[in-house]
Amino acid sequence: MSRIVMKFGGTSVADLDRIRNVARRVRKEVEAGNQVAVVVSAMAGTTDQLVKWVEDASPLHDAREYDTVVAAGEQITSGLLALTLQNMDIPARSWLGWQVPFKTDDVHGAARISEIDTTAMRERLEEGVVCVMAGFQGIADDNRITTLGRGGSDTSAVALAAALEADRCDIYTDVEGVFTTDPRIVPKARKLEKITYEEMLEMASLGAKVLQTRSVAMAMNHGVRVQVLSSFTDTPGTLVVDEDEIVEKQVVSGIAYANNEARITLVGVDNTPGIAGEVFSPLADGNINVDMIIQNESEDGLKTDITFTVPQGDVEKAIKILENASSLKYERLVSDKNVVKISVIGVGMRSHAGVAATMFQTLADKGINIQVISTSEIKISVLIDSEYTELAVRALHTAYGLDGA
Ligand code: ASP
Ligand code: MG
Repeated sequence: MSRIVMKFGGTSVADLDRIRNVARRVRKEVEAGNQVAVVVSAMAGTTDQLVKWVEDASPLHDAREYDTVVAAGEQITSGLLALTLQNMDIPARSWLGWQVPFKTDDVHGAARISEIDTTAMRERLEEGVVCVMAGFQGIADDNRITTLGRGGSDTSAVALAAALEADRCDIYTDVEGVFTTDPRIVPKARKLEKITYEEMLEMASLGAKVLQTRSVAMAMNHGVRVQVLSSFTDTPGTLVVDEDEIVEKQVVSGIAYANNEARITLVGVDNTPGIAGEVFSPLADGNINVDMIIQNESEDGLKTDITFTVPQGDVEKAIKILENASSLKYERLVSDKNVVKISVIGVGMRSHAGVAATMFQTLADKGINIQVISTSEIKISVLIDSEYTELAVRALHTAYGLDGA
């Protein structure tokens, strides 16, 4: 007998018919003799609606009341699924975050889990009761309701699986798994059978919106076996696993793109020691997350150009900060929102030469200019004009041999 956690996203519980469909999947696992805990999201669109009501009611809202409102969607689906299971003669009950309890810090809207006491839930699981937990929710030390950030029910599920020492954490969604790239752009994209935590972390944070990034980090830290699969088909999904479970390591496993960044270039900055600090310290103080950076010296060494990327929503703020940094001397500031960051990802890169060269050559062959490059051990990212997103992703997908039939 196994103990498993099943998580269902918003589209999987979007109405009563779909909740019945979910209940049938749960029943299958129960009939197979498993102890089952289920984590549910709010019905598709519900959380957006709740957020909008909060914003309309009060633009400068109290974050504690925001959480009180937006956590409500998951309360509804947890109760409805418990009822539906009971109607099928499967013993079930709902659990809200505070009832488990799922203890968190008090950073409302983006709370972090500090402790989960599963004593009571384990007793119920042993009795054969299906425990349906409302995802996304927690409780702070002062007994106020918290939420874990948008997409946070993935993190609820992985955290619950870790706390329950579950054998598996199956994340049901509306796609069949993790693909080599976005199938909407590349019809030849393939579903991956397995992917490492590290690769998934890069894919998740780079815009492949399958799992909340935090949930992947948590799964990696706790060694939770996560499977991403569709609640609408019966095909096997993608397993997210440790590197040593993957026998044949791909040099490149996937290609991700993110079009939510913008580029800023400071042209003709006085090239004196400490200049980079003068640019990036005030941005850090303004809580602006800088991603890619390059600095180029002019031939005479007196001037330098500094280019970097920031989240698109922060460009105006970043420009203001730089304009107000009085000790910073530069000739011109240029910004561009029409950029996309394309990344090739693969753990096999660690032991293979030439991955970057293939990327640059492939883009050059298509006449695509690279504006900024950054690399890590298992990833190479380039910033290009967003107009070429599809062309670049497709060409790279082919170049790295990822195309399916
Ligand atoms: N309902 C929440 C959201 O839409 C949490 C989740 O679905 O993961 O962000
Ligand atoms: Mg989600």
